[in-house]
Amino acid sequence: MTALPARRLLLVHAHPDDESINNGATMAKYAAEGAHVTLVTCTLGEEGEVIPPELAHLAPDRDDTLGAHRTGELADAMVQLGVTDHRFLGGPGRFRDSGMMGVPQNDRPDSFWQADLDLAASYLVEVIREVRPQVLVAYDPDGGYGHPDHIKAHRVAMRAAELAAEPAYRRDLGAPHAIAKVYWNCIPRRVVEEGFARLHAAGGQIPFEGIATADDVPGLVDDDQVAAAIDVEARYAERKAAAMKAHVTQIAVDGPFFALSNDLGQPLFGAEFYRLVKGVPEPAGDLEDDLFAGTGA
Ligand SMILES: [Zn+2]
Repeated sequence: MTALPARRLLLVHAHPDDESINNGATMAKYAAEGAHVTLVTCTLGEEGEVIPPELAHLAPDRDDTLGAHRTGELADAMVQLGVTDHRFLGGPGRFRDSGMMGVPQNDRPDSFWQADLDLAASYLVEVIREVRPQVLVAYDPDGGYGHPDHIKAHRVAMRAAELAAEPAYRRDLGAPHAIAKVYWNCIPRRVVEEGFARLHAAGGQIPFEGIATADDVPGLVDDDQVAAAIDVEARYAERKAAAMKAHVTQIAVDGPFFALSNDLGQPLFGAEFYRLVKGVPEPAGDLEDDLFAGTGA
């Protein structure tokens, strides 16, 4: 293995587009600063809804080629973020998008939701032991908003972090590695409410059908839950917006706002927030502005 940069960040996401929406600014910043940023995406997002009418034929109930198309969108987004290490869990197409909670696709045997937890985690253990990240970013136990693939991505990430550090576990997957800090994506309710106030102030000038509500934003927490805020320079926020735009089938971006397939406008946040669930905050009792703080990297 060639020598890796001193700082190594691993992010685990459910579908192509989640990384840009949740962590695009953080990824762009750390990649530009020379950290090794690894993104593992668990599914190809085959069950997503398609926004542009001219691409509607990609949908699972028609050509069912959305996964391949979104793989290309994700590659474009990675170029925008300057991230070169991107992988699909177990290889492209190993696990299929499970659809929203309660739909029949949840029961498909090839769906990520049905995947054996330890099997899925073993693929991530191999990545963890290869890249040896100091920092892991994942979803909270609800996956932010209850999508089965997001919940499963949380479980796989947490299980893999545990197994990767276990000396007796699968030495064929590499030498044990303990991740120093584990964060969950979150966003302070206050920030979201301010964002929606801006959106309402922009009123009729937004090109979306309506405006979402704060409850549509995944991972809402009170301020005292937030351990780290990565409030980036404008150039990284611009990279994030460009990466979101690359997900043409999933996201419509308009200036500081965006909409998903429901066409309800949401504020686009340049700052990104994290809960610390493993590791020690640095400085203690203060809001961190660096996910690697205290790791020695
Ligand atoms: Zn998703």
